[in-house]
Amino acid sequence: MEDYSTLAFVLKQEPIKEQDRNYTFFTQKFGKITLLARGTRKINAKLAGHLELPSLVQIQFTISQRPRLTSALEKFSFPVIKKNTKALTVAFLIADLVDRFTLEKQVDAEIWKLLSDAFYFLEENFNKYPEIADFVWLYFNAQFLEILGLAPFLEGCIECGKTIDNKFFSFEKKGIVCSKHSQKKDRPITSSQKRALNLLFNSSLQRFSQPSYIQEILKEKKYIRKFFNEFTLAVKADII
Ligand SMILES: [Zn+2]
Repeated sequence: MEDYSTLAFVLKQEPIKEQDRNYTFFTQKFGKITLLARGTRKINAKLAGHLELPSLVQIQFTISQRPRLTSALEKFSFPVIKKNTKALTVAFLIADLVDRFTLEKQVDAEIWKLLSDAFYFLEENFNKYPEIADFVWLYFNAQFLEILGLAPFLEGCIECGKTIDNKFFSFEKKGIVCSKHSQKKDRPITSSQKRALNLLFNSSLQRFSQPSYIQEILKEKKYIRKFFNEFTLAVKADII
């Protein structure tokens, strides 16, 4: 029986039956996979120690009848994130978003890199700057949508291309609109909010080593958080 091996981030775990568990991973070599961890309580307890979110783990598995996890070795445990509720909550939100928007067995090097970058950035900066957790969540949202090809149109009015007087965002059309093309249900958007969104969608994480950029995002965090909630719902409805 052949064993496969890959680096992986744990996305979620679900108990099934008394002794077994399903683990969902985002892996470097195979994309998202769900594996059964079967066995005695003792074996599972040992595995579980290595498999707490958001750990980076080296896993081995077989795909004989049902894909099954055979071993897991923790490579990095992200101790800072695990110790802080706020950071851990963001790690869970990120894992859940990836789980909801990806299909099994679709290798994706960009998602892999984004996950890794986001978790390490949070781990390394959280202690000196806890607000970074809010930023990482918003940044991940934007970049993840970008990778999936679902980013909103922010360059000009999505209907006429006009770059001035764009004071609304249409969740139906997935882009900003000018006053002429806006409808009642569209959400007002200020230029500072537009700028923050543009920064999130179009900047590398390195750019945010400058705290002033992070401040620009955090200034609008309430708006952007709401924006992403609504936007991902609208996008999800389109996919399904
Ligand atoms: Zn227009």
